[in-house]
Amino acid sequence: MIEIIEKKKNKGILTYEEIDRAITGYVKGAIPDYQMSALLMAICINGMSDEEIFNLTDVMIKSGDTLDLSDIKGVKIDKHSSGGVGDKTTIVLGPVIASVGLVVPKMSGRGLGHTGGTIDKLESIPGFDTKISLKDFKKELKEIGFALAGQSANLVPADKKIYALRDVTGTVSSIPLIASSIMSKKIASGADKILIDLKVGNGALIDNISDAKKLASLMVKIGKKYGRETVCVLTNMNEPLGNNIGNALEVEEAVEVLKGNVKNDLYDLVVTLASYMIKMGKGISLKEAEKEAVEVIQNGSAYKKFLEFVKYQKGNLDKLELAPKIFSVKSVKTGYINGIDTKKLGEIVKAIGGGREKLDDTIDYGVGIVLSKKLGDYVEKDEEILKIYLNKKDMEIRKILSCFLIEDTKKSKEKLVYDVIM
Ligand code: URA
Repeated sequence: MIEIIEKKKNKGILTYEEIDRAITGYVKGAIPDYQMSALLMAICINGMSDEEIFNLTDVMIKSGDTLDLSDIKGVKIDKHSSGGVGDKTTIVLGPVIASVGLVVPKMSGRGLGHTGGTIDKLESIPGFDTKISLKDFKKELKEIGFALAGQSANLVPADKKIYALRDVTGTVSSIPLIASSIMSKKIASGADKILIDLKVGNGALIDNISDAKKLASLMVKIGKKYGRETVCVLTNMNEPLGNNIGNALEVEEAVEVLKGNVKNDLYDLVVTLASYMIKMGKGISLKEAEKEAVEVIQNGSAYKKFLEFVKYQKGNLDKLELAPKIFSVKSVKTGYINGIDTKKLGEIVKAIGGGREKLDDTIDYGVGIVLSKKLGDYVEKDEEILKIYLNKKDMEIRKILSCFLIEDTKKSKEKLVYDVIM
């Protein structure tokens, strides 16, 4: 292992065998955390060639089981987000895609760092079961077309172990490590086609378009190598997605979008991502695909599918509970909102109980933030900027307000979708 670390430290190209020795040895416990940390840092600093990234992905896939979904009829399409704040897209997108007759097998994660996780969001619905067996997962896919479960222990165990280490060694934002982490899980999950929502901005892992494009084309290439058509959409994370941040609050907003009551940036993103998924799944034009996505929201079938999905996984939506103490946070200045520190807002929601500081912390599902203003909006002094939902923990108003940059002149509005790589 020392030789492998030294080789990467000196910008060498690792062979398949060397990558395999390091990863497999680490998963088996033969290589200690400190040596793997050193290798991860060397990769982070010196990067990897495309060939090394393909090999790393392959070794990660082979570290555990792969799902065989070939007995399920229809085109199976998976969706992955690289992580953002207020990102409840999967909760809306899954039912939309299943409503047009495609199949969405979704393995999701819990919250990480300042970003939330779909599993935590859905578990805010009392009774909702994300620990379903593979047999039940497949049965649900066959019957209703959408199922969502926590990552099975033996699906890419290498990623599970390495991601936890990256989280505490400053090695999360590395293009080779992100590409192999995301794509190994997507390939192992067995879907035919893959859509990646790659978040770019101050609330995401990647904050610049040039790195995002590199990462996106790598992921598309990895998908092709395994015969899985992959589309990567680069989307804006310079502000939270939608208005609600916090588990139960995000479910509530997802429901409003599914009902067709809210047409905000979350709705626009869902329609964009759904269009690419439907285009891939049905081989139709993007325009026709978009029409189908909009129609299933408008005619109520996506919402009906969502209710079916929640019931199937034993959730009781009527019992969704929000935190009891609601405070209105008001602006101390008049002007345009020209900047939002998205990561800091995500961290605030985590700090009031909406996420975990330690792995075994319990989540306070009802807490969070509802934005009354978004980027580009005008706000008067003493006008509400957001509402904060608190339960057991408090938060300084000053800290919340410091997340907003308010200026006299309006900056031009950024795009929601920067680019699409396929
Ligand atoms: N999401 C993942 O699954 N892996 C990463 O490395 C980053 C985001």
